[in-house]
Amino acid sequence: MNKIEKFVIICGYRCNNNCVFCINSGKRHINDKPTAQILREMLDARKRGKVYIEFIGGEMTIRPDVFVLIKQAKNMGFNSVNMATNGRMLSYPDFAKRLVASGIDEIIFSIHGHEPLLHDSLTRVTGSFNELVQGLKNVKKLGLKKIASNTTIVKQNYMHLPDIGKFLLNNGITNSEFIFADPTYGGVYDDFLPLMPRISEAAPFIRKCLSFAKKNKAIRHWHVRYVPLCYFRGYLNNISEIDEVNNFHTEHLAPDFRNQDVENSRKNISREKPSKCRGCKLFSLCEGIWKEYLLKYGSSELKSVKSGAH
Ligand code: SF4
Repeated sequence: MNKIEKFVIICGYRCNNNCVFCINSGKRHINDKPTAQILREMLDARKRGKVYIEFIGGEMTIRPDVFVLIKQAKNMGFNSVNMATNGRMLSYPDFAKRLVASGIDEIIFSIHGHEPLLHDSLTRVTGSFNELVQGLKNVKKLGLKKIASNTTIVKQNYMHLPDIGKFLLNNGITNSEFIFADPTYGGVYDDFLPLMPRISEAAPFIRKCLSFAKKNKAIRHWHVRYVPLCYFRGYLNNISEIDEVNNFHTEHLAPDFRNQDVENSRKNISREKPSKCRGCKLFSLCEGIWKEYLLKYGSSELKSVKSGAH
């Protein structure tokens, strides 16, 4: 099967939230890309055969050119135009209307809690949860069919994942990704101990959430990213990286870096399979755990899988 040629364009790092775990918190001083540069890069990606585009930031919705970029992506022939957002700007009905009218195919909302106190404490913006919920309602009312979400897993929210899952389903989100925090740079690197959960403590809650998804026919695809597979033996169909390796060939293009083969390179950049992984039955499928995690917490939680992978 041919892989989907995916182009993830990081247009800049400015944001109207200030999430505690933000991987880009140290990059806010870098200038956002100007419109003309983004259009050039999009066209170049199309010429190289990319058909699926995902705009990420920073926060795309605070760019005045966001509608133009979405429209041009459609005009250039990308067959799937997607955007990640904290959803706050979509609480303004006119803004939501213009965005949907510009031709966006899918919006991915970043949702880190199931209620205001939890979500707002992580975004550090009071009212951000209520704005996001209003944004969700607005785009649903406008008839946008594809609405997805991502949730960053930190110490403060992992035990609430089953409730977050129920919240997502109640809001009609059936394509969701749960992302084990990345401590390589940014907020979690700076505040590792207060933020980074132990995989052995978080995994039961993540599995509970994924089991809920398995039992619920309305849920299309809930998946988890950046976890060691020894904690997810029965959930290999829910691992983002396995899905991507099988189905996508992805390029990331940011103001400060370019990675033209994300699936093949990322496992060697920030993650590691320590010596105790040798002989593990899941070794070839697994991308290991963060190097920074191993430095701070060690490898004692990893459990080499000796028999049948499932
Ligand atoms: S390779 Fe290592 S991290 Fe991955 S499943 Fe096996 S023991 Fe766990």
